[in-house]
Amino acid sequence: KHLSKRFTLQAGLFSKNAPSVKAVDDVSFHIMQGETLSLVGESGCGKSTTGRLIARLLEPSAGSLHFEGADISAVAGNDLRRLRRDVQMVFQDPYSSLNPRQTVGAILEAPFEIQGVEPPGGKRKAVLDLMERVGLKPEHVSRFPREFSGGQRQRIGIARALALRPKLIICDEPVSALDVSVQAQIVNLLQDLQRDFGLSYLFIAHDLSVVRHISHRVAVMYLGRIVEIGSAATVYARPAHPYTAALLSSVPIPDPDRRSSGTRTVLKGEIPSPINPPTGCHFHTRCPRAQDRCRSEAPALHKQGENHQVACHFPLGAN
Ligand code: SF4
Ligand code: MG
Repeated sequence: KHLSKRFTLQAGLFSKNAPSVKAVDDVSFHIMQGETLSLVGESGCGKSTTGRLIARLLEPSAGSLHFEGADISAVAGNDLRRLRRDVQMVFQDPYSSLNPRQTVGAILEAPFEIQGVEPPGGKRKAVLDLMERVGLKPEHVSRFPREFSGGQRQRIGIARALALRPKLIICDEPVSALDVSVQAQIVNLLQDLQRDFGLSYLFIAHDLSVVRHISHRVAVMYLGRIVEIGSAATVYARPAHPYTAALLSSVPIPDPDRRSSGTRTVLKGEIPSPINPPTGCHFHTRCPRAQDRCRSEAPALHKQGENHQVACHFPLGAN
């Protein structure tokens, strides 16, 4: 609720006015049990920072976090360790997140050791069960991360996240570094695991096409703010924010629903620096619908329809 994260930049070491970046700016959302909420936007929009705040790998500058009704914003020590069983993370680059000097067996035993959990049947059996669950072979247990392909390494990362039977997994671009042919396999695996274990996902991606088949709801971020959030069916078929429409225009998949809306926006230019974001609506420097009001007044999220909110003064499809 109302999460913000400000980073102070190094350049200000000897000056009173260290420049800072508001990486996450008053972001609120919820995720239901068994649900996938996708968080989408270009790099630098604050989506990974949001994920790390929720995983309690970073401290928020403002706002609060709640899990199953409990305020987890300030949990520490044993309570934080306990929370790590319920909330896990899968990272973009499975190679740098896996210790190259550990075998798969050791990597997958670590969560049990860190948490002091002895699984029924012992750790070795639990590890082999996990490996089978993510599509690895028993003989892989004594191999090292470098002996695997990118897709297999991500399976190891997923198995590690799954070890303690978490309830929420934050997937930070888990397929962005993989070949397109492998991406679908990993997304399918995550979907199977969600169905079997009732998992909730926060699925972070820079591309709406990747999350199309896994999302129940979608939130689009731009320069630290959520600009649109709603059910996947609605956001894909009737995007209301010009930025979402632009992201969808660059998706190379024919979509009869979208064609019928008659909207096509081409996104120009680079995302502006978050150190000095544009006034008013942050998107006005790239928005084909921008008017004077957009430069002075930041639009708040407001209801656009059932289960659909948009932060835009002149949303699409609202005549
Ligand atoms: Fe574009 Fe204005 Fe809407 Fe921002 S508020 S997205 S600039 S139309
Ligand atoms: Mg990122």
